[in-house]
Amino acid sequence: MVKRNANIAKLKGSYLFPEIERRKRAYLDNKKDSKLLSLGIGDTTLPIPSFITKEMAAFSEGLGTFEGYHGYGPPFGGEALRAALSVHHYQNIIPADDIFISDGAKPDIFRLQALFGQDSLISVQDPAYPAFVDTSVLQGRTLGFNEDKPGYEGITYLPCKPENDFFPDLDKAKGTDLLILVSPNNPTGKAFNRKELQTIVDFALKEKILIIYDAAYSSYIRSKDTPKSIYEIEGAREAAIEMNSFSKMIGFTGVRCGFTVVPKELHFEDGSSIKKDWERIISTCFNGASNIASMGALRALSPDGLRAIKKMTDYYLENAHLLKKEMISLGFEVYGGENAPFIWMRRGKKEDSWDLFNEFLTKAELIVTPGSGFGPAGNGFIRCSAFIERESLHQALSRLKRLYALT
Ligand code: PLP
Repeated sequence: MVKRNANIAKLKGSYLFPEIERRKRAYLDNKKDSKLLSLGIGDTTLPIPSFITKEMAAFSEGLGTFEGYHGYGPPFGGEALRAALSVHHYQNIIPADDIFISDGAKPDIFRLQALFGQDSLISVQDPAYPAFVDTSVLQGRTLGFNEDKPGYEGITYLPCKPENDFFPDLDKAKGTDLLILVSPNNPTGKAFNRKELQTIVDFALKEKILIIYDAAYSSYIRSKDTPKSIYEIEGAREAAIEMNSFSKMIGFTGVRCGFTVVPKELHFEDGSSIKKDWERIISTCFNGASNIASMGALRALSPDGLRAIKKMTDYYLENAHLLKKEMISLGFEVYGGENAPFIWMRRGKKEDSWDLFNEFLTKAELIVTPGSGFGPAGNGFIRCSAFIERESLHQALSRLKRLYALT
């Protein structure tokens, strides 16, 4: 009989969001009339602007005609979309042929695992988007989970806490091969400024470590001294792979379109080209992004599309500001929410994330995300996302005021 993949068996418990869902179901089974509101899962809520959906609809209609039919597209993405990203997203600092269009950042995170040998060592910002650690476990980069010192054996965690202004101790990453960073960070909301990013790039070049930089929330950056791409930093093209996505930019979480930059300047230890291997992987296990989604993405990079991105991200950022202000006034210690659609907060240093999750669920009927699900350094915190309609946010805030203003 077929053997179970031993690496899957090493994954600890269920993935964060299914566990939240399980607890939510259990609560609803006992209280069927409850009106839960979610500040939890990071899915977007605002509709995609109609000029973009119309573009996708027209292209889709065309597929039903001989003239408008298209089969497989170029495996690395349509030329027009790659060129538009080069100009409008990367302001010409990245050439179109270094940009690879995908079905989203998460599938690219998984495919990136195949780019590096099983023995390559990783260091990862802690807390960070769980897909990086989980796909590393699936790839066999760990011996298993260590309950005594929470974390996977063989993965180097770089704690990012208020105490170090969420900036990792890079010395800990010495001797590893890949340095995984998410900025603006999910869940903490920390976005590295120019000086911090230059320090990271200089370190990576000196130590010959490749940076995997997830910039999925770059469209939320408003601070002038905070780069939207790591490639704004000198030397980064020799040091980093960057990924991004239209998901949180313009509500494409369900449409699916992302992009990853693998600069031609990057090389493996033996001098061979990283980009060439990436092309080989993409050709082997991906037949190109959806052409319908790509048409929508291209429209999102037109002048009115870029205005719509600004408007949509402004809306979520305003939510983040409202939430942050309220939680501070209710006595929580609150971070993020400035260049990111996430609020990261705790009440006391000794509290457990899941206890706080349960308190929000049972006393305010609000779903939040326990910080411990994002890595050991996340324990004690909860994450609230700003992807909620304003009306629901106001209801959530009233419930929180009722709960905490009295205690
Ligand atoms: N990267 C980060 C940091 C994320 O938070 C998410 C989604 O929540 C993703 C990647 C996944 O993006 P996509 O929808 O493009 O797969």
